[in-house]
Amino acid sequence: MSTNSSASLTQTPFAPPSLDVSIVIPVYNEQGNLPLLFQRLYPVLDALGRSYEVVFTNDGSVDASIELLTEQFNARPDVTRVIDFNGNYGQHMAIMAAFERVRGNVVVTLDADLQNPPEEIPKLLEKTDAGYDCVGGVRQNRQDSIFRRYASMFVNFVRRSSTSIEMTDQGCMLRAYSRAVVEGIVRSGAINTFLPALAYTLAKNPTEVPVAHEERHAGVSNYSLGKLIRLNFDLITAFTTVPLQLFTMLAMACSAGSLLLVCVLAFRRIFLGAEAEGLFTLFGILFFLVSVCMVGIGIIGEYVGRTYQVVRGRTRYQVNRVLENNLTHEGGNSKFQ
Ligand code: UDP
Ligand code: MG
Repeated sequence: MSTNSSASLTQTPFAPPSLDVSIVIPVYNEQGNLPLLFQRLYPVLDALGRSYEVVFTNDGSVDASIELLTEQFNARPDVTRVIDFNGNYGQHMAIMAAFERVRGNVVVTLDADLQNPPEEIPKLLEKTDAGYDCVGGVRQNRQDSIFRRYASMFVNFVRRSSTSIEMTDQGCMLRAYSRAVVEGIVRSGAINTFLPALAYTLAKNPTEVPVAHEERHAGVSNYSLGKLIRLNFDLITAFTTVPLQLFTMLAMACSAGSLLLVCVLAFRRIFLGAEAEGLFTLFGILFFLVSVCMVGIGIIGEYVGRTYQVVRGRTRYQVNRVLENNLTHEGGNSKFQ
């Protein structure tokens, strides 16, 4: 007799986990950070006393990152895997590609620029050992620009008021997930998504833990203003349609106001005679309403564009090759679902 849970287990595309921990690190132009990252990360993992692997995804770097990753793979082929993308598909797709291949029972994500100190990994594992299936790091003393911190506060506010996702620090990528959560993420086939939020929606027992945060060791952030705006729209549009509903409500309020205005003007026209003044007031009102419409069209566009990307079913990412266990595979690709 098969229960629901065993039925869903048989549907999973994953082999059973064969290791304790998988560390997942997306890499985009991080040549200045990788040597120190290797130097700090591997001793922490060796000291855990658990079986582990480190899965790096090279997200189309144009510097020497892939050479450094290949060197590290050659130095530690027992515990290192490298997925090499043919182009830049973004941090969250880089993590997704690694999630599709991880062999660990617990999966930890980490940035490559040393903003997330590898020494904090054991703190997360203590929580997964205690039975939590989604552990979010909360950056203490965040070492980012004032603009980034205020922008995060704003997006945090929008997320809190429009979704039921509870996260103190959504932008912190130092996180740990149970295998079940990672499998759920992969099965979702999500694109344009924000992985920590998606993980939260799939978790049964999430928690948070304070973690240290450091300044970027070398180089500058890979997120331009445009990329940041797109990422934060991903966070909102992937999890809620509240912005669309708010807009409908605003449109109804504006219609009611406009109707009132028409009534007042008609009343004046009939009882007080025609008036030429007030023309500019009317223009002002009109411009305001037109700009509100434009914002509305923009918000609808954000949703429609993302729907289109899913519907047209293009490749989510293309893998050049995978370095693992002394074998070099030619890569495949992953389709939108
Ligand atoms: N990253 C990536 N692809 C991208 C942008 C970033 O794989 O298109 C990686 C990057 O190498 C780093 C992590 O994602 O490991 C976080 O990027 P970054 O430090 O630039 O972001 P920030 O800390 O400024 O949010
Ligand atoms: Mg960073």
